[in-house]
Amino acid sequence: MAKAILYDASKCTACRACYVACKQWNVLAAAEVKELGTYYNALTLDGTTWNLIDFIEKDDPDRFRWHFISHRCMHCGDPSCANVCAAGAITKDSETGFVLIDNDKCLGCKNCHYACPFWEGVPRFRDEISEAEEEWMDHGNKVPGKRVASTMYKCRGCVDRVKNGLEPACVTTCPPDALQFGDKGEMLSIANARVALLKERGETKAQVYDPKGVGGTGVIYVLLDDPEVYGLPADPKVSTADMVTKWLTGLITAGILTIVPFWMVFKAAEAEGKGGE
Ligand code: SF4
Ligand code: SF4
Ligand code: SF4
Repeated sequence: MAKAILYDASKCTACRACYVACKQWNVLAAAEVKELGTYYNALTLDGTTWNLIDFIEKDDPDRFRWHFISHRCMHCGDPSCANVCAAGAITKDSETGFVLIDNDKCLGCKNCHYACPFWEGVPRFRDEISEAEEEWMDHGNKVPGKRVASTMYKCRGCVDRVKNGLEPACVTTCPPDALQFGDKGEMLSIANARVALLKERGETKAQVYDPKGVGGTGVIYVLLDDPEVYGLPADPKVSTADMVTKWLTGLITAGILTIVPFWMVFKAAEAEGKGGE
């Protein structure tokens, strides 16, 4: 049965224990942080940052408020990243529904990054593997999640933990239970009940985010406002390999259209040069 992680933005305190737990469990290097006058750090997903908490300031007419949101792979029901991967390196795990990259097969072409409709493209390229990861693999921790340089990385849903009866590391560590894990049907019931309660409390825009345009997601959100407020697409759609072909054709056409005028000017100048000889 498909599994899901529920992230409840109305409970999250932005403590970022989930971010640290993900790095610890997956032997991922700490991100360099910068003082920017905000609590928002790390700034973006990357090859060693598979989840992060975004701080959003919203100036409503009646009050100023902060919204928090977890950026991470949504584990789409119909994953665009897998659809466009020419190497067949991205698959859905049949047991959990989590979307996994096989780094032995990945070409590092970044098609998956550009096709992904969430968080400016979830899969991120990494060109090197740390000594800690090499050591980790030397101890036999190669499957799942082998690390290969010059390939793409993202959240793996902690399938290694889940298949051994544990929750994902981020879920286990979350102090206020803003993250929960279980069968997708159960997570949806919890999310819907929470939204009903929030509405009773006056949160009129509270809603469940499980967009149908990508076949539903393996990460469900409870939001306090419209998806766009959080940087989420209201109605994301699946990218297909066909769309990538069209995109590439468009690029090639644009290239030809750019080159042709230059070529005509060059030929005219050449003819003029010859005429003057
Ligand atoms: S651990 Fe839980 S409360 Fe803390 S930032 Fe992550 S989701 Fe939010
Ligand atoms: S969120 Fe992006 S990377 Fe994750 S499964 Fe969906 S398309 Fe793939
Ligand atoms: S499920 Fe595992 S890999 Fe994904 S964000 Fe949580 S801790 Fe990281």
